[in-house]
Amino acid sequence: MIIGKSKREIEKMRASGQLVGRVLQTLREMVEPGITTMELDREAEKMIRDAGALPTFKGYNGFPYSICASVNEQIVHGFPSDYKLKEGDIFSIDCGATLEGFVGDSATTVPVGKVDDEWLKLIQVTEECLERAIRQCHPGNHLGDIGWAVQEHAEANGYSVVRDYVGHGIGRRMHEDPQIPNYGRPGLGPKIKAGYVFAIEPMVNLGSHYTKLLNDGWTVVTLDGLPSAHAEHTIAITEDGPEVLTLAASTVSV
Ligand code: MG
Ligand code: MG
Repeated sequence: MIIGKSKREIEKMRASGQLVGRVLQTLREMVEPGITTMELDREAEKMIRDAGALPTFKGYNGFPYSICASVNEQIVHGFPSDYKLKEGDIFSIDCGATLEGFVGDSATTVPVGKVDDEWLKLIQVTEECLERAIRQCHPGNHLGDIGWAVQEHAEANGYSVVRDYVGHGIGRRMHEDPQIPNYGRPGLGPKIKAGYVFAIEPMVNLGSHYTKLLNDGWTVVTLDGLPSAHAEHTIAITEDGPEVLTLAASTVSV
């Protein structure tokens, strides 16, 4: 069942979303060759707790950290570690925070130092996939429109979309109905209604879409070892269209 949110609830989700946005902005600025992914995890947890919120990921189904730290061929759910980011890596950070009972969830992929043009383009196209998906978030559209927007743009650029992991509804719990795949057919699937809140998260692979789970039980990598990029926002659907909740600051429209 898809749980619609009231305006008041969306206001709370804007607060948790903006916190996550600020955390990701800060971590993006900290990324440089030599920093460990564990240092970034500690900063995220500190910022979240200092804001009176909880790091949603920590303890979620036993996940041990506040961020997912996925480097290069790691798609999602990587563990922060003493690995030092190095020039040429692409690094995806996924973060969630629970504030006053509501969850915000967002992810971004950051180039470390100077990165190969082909890999930079993968990040750029992944962000464009997210933007195109967000533009589909109008009442009356269908879930399939979102998936299609991602898939069509990724595949037009010669990439593939991950099928084994998907976006999701979000609210008091991080993962609510519906599942939001990064593939689909236009006009199919449940109708999008005002009050729905979705975490839309394209995972785009340079090579094939096949994935493999590492022995730690969490880290998902590409089967072919080629890089993958990830971008995610929490989006509220309003009568007027999409509102991105996980920006670092509120955007006031005039
Ligand atoms: Mg996420
Ligand atoms: Mg998510």
